Amino acid sequence: METLEFLVQGSEPDPYRVTFKKLGQSLNAYCTCTAGQNGMYCKHRFNIFSGSTDGVVSPNSDKVPIVAGWLPGTDVEKAMRAIIALEKEQSRLKKEISTAKRALAQTLLR
Ligand SMILES: [Zn+2]
Repeated sequence: METLEFLVQGSEPDPYRVTFKKLGQSLNAYCTCTAGQNGMYCKHRFNIFSGSTDGVVSPNSDKVPIVAGWLPGTDVEKAMRAIIALEKEQSRLKKEISTAKRALAQTLLR
């Protein structure tokens, strides 16, 4: 079992403890933030899996790429890819809605 732990500064005064454990193709991640403790999605784990050191305040932030390197071939990678694809789609739809609203506004002034 390989384990890496980071301290991530979030909205609370004390940093969150974010722990990653890899055993073969099994990958687990825990976070002490409210969402993480309630079994919900949190960006603290997602960011580190994405290779981002945003908010990492522990002196081992150079180890973040190791965790990102644990992803390939895991079900966690598949789930993350689904979210990234949906976020891209959301961004595209926001632009499309904005364009449609401009078109509506122009139609109203004709
Ligand atoms: Zn968290």
